[in-house]
Amino acid sequence: MGSRNGDNPHIGIVGAGVSGLRCADILLSHGFKVTILEARNRIGGRICQSDELGYTVDIGPNWIHTWDSGDVHPILKLAVETQTPLHHWNGKQLIYNSSGNKVPEEKSERLSTLLWEIIEKAFKTSEAAREKDKGKSIPREESLYDFISKRATEELEDEEDRQVLIQMSEMWGAYVGEPVWKQSLRFAWMEECCGGEEVFVESSYSAILDRIAKAATEQAEVILNAKVTSINTAHHDKSQKKAILRIENGNEYKFDQVVMATPLGWLQKNMDSFEPALPSRLSSAFHNLKLSQLEKVFITFPSAFWISDTTADSFPAYTNWLTPSYAHDTNPHGWPQEIWNLAALAAPNKHPTILFYLYGDCSRHIVNAIHGRPKAENFTFLRDFFQPYYSRLPGYDVASEACIPKAILATEWLKDDLCGNASYCNFQVGVEEADQDILTIRQGCVDRGLWFCGEHAAPFEESGTVAGAYLSGESVGRRIVELYKDESNTAE
Ligand SMILES: Cc1cc2nc3c(=O)[nH]c(=O)nc-3n(C[C@H](O)[C@H](O)[C@H](O)COP(=O)(O)OP(=O)(O)OC[C@H]3O[C@@H](n4cnc5c(N)ncnc54)[C@H](O)[C@@H]3O)c2cc1C
Repeated sequence: MGSRNGDNPHIGIVGAGVSGLRCADILLSHGFKVTILEARNRIGGRICQSDELGYTVDIGPNWIHTWDSGDVHPILKLAVETQTPLHHWNGKQLIYNSSGNKVPEEKSERLSTLLWEIIEKAFKTSEAAREKDKGKSIPREESLYDFISKRATEELEDEEDRQVLIQMSEMWGAYVGEPVWKQSLRFAWMEECCGGEEVFVESSYSAILDRIAKAATEQAEVILNAKVTSINTAHHDKSQKKAILRIENGNEYKFDQVVMATPLGWLQKNMDSFEPALPSRLSSAFHNLKLSQLEKVFITFPSAFWISDTTADSFPAYTNWLTPSYAHDTNPHGWPQEIWNLAALAAPNKHPTILFYLYGDCSRHIVNAIHGRPKAENFTFLRDFFQPYYSRLPGYDVASEACIPKAILATEWLKDDLCGNASYCNFQVGVEEADQDILTIRQGCVDRGLWFCGEHAAPFEESGTVAGAYLSGESVGRRIVELYKDESNTAE
């Protein structure tokens, strides 16, 4: 292998998230010279931890959306190799109806089973349409919510059951980051990873990240605090063979090939950084895909008041407050709320903490309210916002010290320009041909030496996940390796 000018090819990767790091690993293992330009002062991108609560938590991904037991799934495999402790939840759920009363267990289980059966049917319907006519037989404005509501009406006679099931379907928002009525039915098949077993990383993703980053940190040149502001591939032709990247401080770097591993949201806002402009089909592909807003709020208490010695193992992993009608002052839109019980984890990762997942407008409301404000004010705001929900948990006593939050940590991905002010891509109503958009992004501009990887360019069913970002970086790395193999074969 050699570059077109005789040296080892030098590849520039923009962004040291999972996708960029995995791409670097592949290239390094084939003898390429790699430089990673990363705008932050750390690697990992959306994989990131905080110690603000007094212990380490992931403020980005926590889950591994599995499809096998770890023989093939790359992230599950790395979790096993790095002895990262994983949690399999007990599958129980506690549901409060919109008046704030518990839905009987028998009823919530029956409706939840039916809901997942309906979602399975939605996947199948969208897959069948994909095969039949590329999905065109499903109107692009039709949502997963439309499908669920229709089926609920057909399958449930009881009006209250119907209403509860439809409200329960809003839990979809915490998977994809936006409400279920924004989820395109035509492209529901692309969210199938939401149907497999969900494993929770008990400690944090940091050992997995270290393993993914190992080759890059040991063998590549990794330049931190290097925000790329211009990508010039005008001279990437047979004579000059160089792509030029400029970073914020004015420094320039030249490469044989450039891999953009920056988030979709960053690309959407920075199209004018590319010189020459990207082909119109490619730039429209970036804009056709939409972004979601998942945020996390950890609330930790002096002790886990919601469990007792007898309920510690059996307490529901998941609690959902459906369309609350009892918190008008703080939540006039009735955004549903849901938590995971982190007191169920094994020591030393067990904490008296509940983890809320917010999405869509609720995320935007919370983050806009707290951003840039003093911590003490935010504590009060967040406590008051979430109190109507946690105060309904068993064992709550307004007069008890154990029930007063000790610390609250809320993420603010919405305000983070370097993750594109969003959490990850999703497929919203209105999108015409999301699969073709992704294929176009994956194809990149090979003739200009310009490639794209990231969660938004992932294998279809892994879009938006760590595994998807990893596989997408891997794929670009392998294609660059092949490109140079092909060239040296031609030269011979
Ligand atoms: C709150 C939240 C929860 C999530 N939960 C899960 C989960 O449970 N399971 C799961 O599988 N996935 C989850 N995800 C999604 C997952 O985190 C992402 O799919 C994955 O980490 C994306 O990796 P990436 O390499 O594509 O992008 P990133 O990790 O965002 O990496 C991109 C890198 O590019 C850098 N960059 C940006 N602009 C520039 C520039 N101009 N110059 C140089 N560098 C730049 C960024 O700083 C960043 O380091 C979650 C995401 C969020 C936000």
